[in-house]
Amino acid sequence: MENVLIVTGGGRGIGAAVARLAAGQGYAVCISYLNNHAAAEEVVASITGKGGRAIAVQADVAVEEQVVRLFEQADSALGRLTALVNNAGILERQARVEDMDAARIGRVFATNVVGSFICAREAVRRMSTRHGGKGGAIVNLSSRAARLGSPGEYVDYAASKAAVDTLTIGLAKEVAAEGIRVNAVSPGLIYTDIHASGGEPGRVDRVKNAVPMQRGGYPEEVAEAVLWLLSAQASYTTGATIDVSGGR
Ligand code: NAP
Repeated sequence: MENVLIVTGGGRGIGAAVARLAAGQGYAVCISYLNNHAAAEEVVASITGKGGRAIAVQADVAVEEQVVRLFEQADSALGRLTALVNNAGILERQARVEDMDAARIGRVFATNVVGSFICAREAVRRMSTRHGGKGGAIVNLSSRAARLGSPGEYVDYAASKAAVDTLTIGLAKEVAAEGIRVNAVSPGLIYTDIHASGGEPGRVDRVKNAVPMQRGGYPEEVAEAVLWLLSAQASYTTGATIDVSGGR
């Protein structure tokens, strides 16, 4: 039986590393992206060029109908879904809470929280034995920010990741007897484009000396933890979070 994986936001950064590693382990992979078609197509080409199966679908995880369409396209192109990585996530420009408006906070929660919930819903409807499915695994991308709070930078983002942690714990228990494991990976400071979105592309290098291991991490190091949680080797692990943060 082939493993079929959806990775949201799989065109760049951690999601792209997850997609590539999964394909190397034999998964058929559907990545979603928001705007960057070229990056997503490059990930697909790198997989199919090695004989793997992959598709890219433009779909905003914050828009329910687009998520429904994403899962339907993966069904018809790749077959029965066995794994979901809720990776798509955003942060906005560094700011103090007193300078945040409701629109900004709403955007961050719509993508990071509502998007993760709706994608998880679509996965459960396909995987749960309650719905005639054969089980599967979900991994959510949290952040060490959920515990550290990101003061002066993005407390809204940190709070959205705390909501992802609660989704992980609650959904894990809700579907544990239905063949689905739900876990999270909590990265620390990883070299990706997300820091530029906050207005500071060099953020990892500015703060890396505060990391016990004295360095930033790489998307591939996060992907290893994600793939282990998806794998049969993690068969008795659910509701868990793995920190990939150099000790931070
Ligand atoms: P990134 O480099 O900024 O890439 C984000 C990816 O998500 C892109 O492929 C982007 O699509 C996609 N995306 C953004 N909004 C989307 C939406 N509404 N619908 C669908 N796709 C969307 O981010 P990253 O650093 O790899 O982060 C991946 C995950 O890890 C996020 O959940 C993030 O919060 C978490 N994380 C990252 C770090 C870190 O230090 N990098 C630390 C902790 C947690 P386009 O390519 O089309 O723009």
